[in-house]
Amino acid sequence: MAEKKNGPTNVLIVGVGGQGVIMVSKVLAMLCQNHGYEVKQSEVHGMAKRGGGVFSHVRFGSSVWSPTIPVGEADVLVALEWAEALRWINYMNPQTGTFIADTQKIVPPFACRVRDRGADAMYSEETPAEIMENVRAGYAMDATSIAEDLGNLKAANTVLLGALSNSLEFSVDAWLEVIRSFVPPKSIDINMEAFAKGREWAQAGPKRVDENAKGRGVSGRDLHKQVETKLEITEEWCKGCDICVKMCPERCLRLNDQLISELHKPDACTGCRMCEWLCPDFAIKITNTPIMEPAE
Ligand code: SF4
Ligand code: SF4
Repeated sequence: MAEKKNGPTNVLIVGVGGQGVIMVSKVLAMLCQNHGYEVKQSEVHGMAKRGGGVFSHVRFGSSVWSPTIPVGEADVLVALEWAEALRWINYMNPQTGTFIADTQKIVPPFACRVRDRGADAMYSEETPAEIMENVRAGYAMDATSIAEDLGNLKAANTVLLGALSNSLEFSVDAWLEVIRSFVPPKSIDINMEAFAKGREWAQAGPKRVDENAKGRGVSGRDLHKQVETKLEITEEWCKGCDICVKMCPERCLRLNDQLISELHKPDACTGCRMCEWLCPDFAIKITNTPIMEPAE
């Protein structure tokens, strides 16, 4: 996308607290500044605790007057979470906009109304394929699983930046230089790979849905079924902050002698995922696998 003649280029980045919306937005803003564009960036994150909605508007061009993108004028919508993508889709320009979303689903804690394993939760039921039918160009990709396969869940944002790079006219080297300056030195290599994967994914066609997306979360439909829950803790990432222990509604987590979180009452865990969303260090991973009912 070249610089627009009739105004600034608008990129709206959305997700939930703790996912890195602001990092994505800052990378893009710095990239634009490095290229001499005037950039305006506005964001909401102060009130959004982990799990709450976060968004950032980035506008760049030869001159930009307002920091906020009007409804229907985003050239690209980048969503780090599926329901947030749907919530903001009306901001995308219906004729020219590009939709880029991670299929990851984060069920907000308040949506887990019944505390039984596999209990019903409120979550939008539109599938990536249904959404793709209604957008001009778009990518519904399992960025979280791509990052996980590379060995670092946190690199999901960089996978999405790779996909975004396909819609904006900046060189790959310019993107990588900025990303390198934003990520911790020890994760530079993984982030470089994550960027390449996202870019490659988007270059394969103007409209793509990952048919095998794990979605990591549970869909509204899956939540009606019985599930088997697996909780994994990456001990090296746990800093013993105690948040998961205090917030688990079933009181089934505790800190061990090394001040690492552990599941001490596995039978009580409902798989509600609250610990996973609230952990600031991405140290907990919950996998809810629907239990297949035997054929009659
Ligand atoms: S351990 Fe995590 S998933 Fe299990 S009940 Fe507690 S908060 Fe929910
Ligand atoms: S919230 Fe995360 S970092 Fe804090 S104790 Fe739990 S697992 Fe460890």
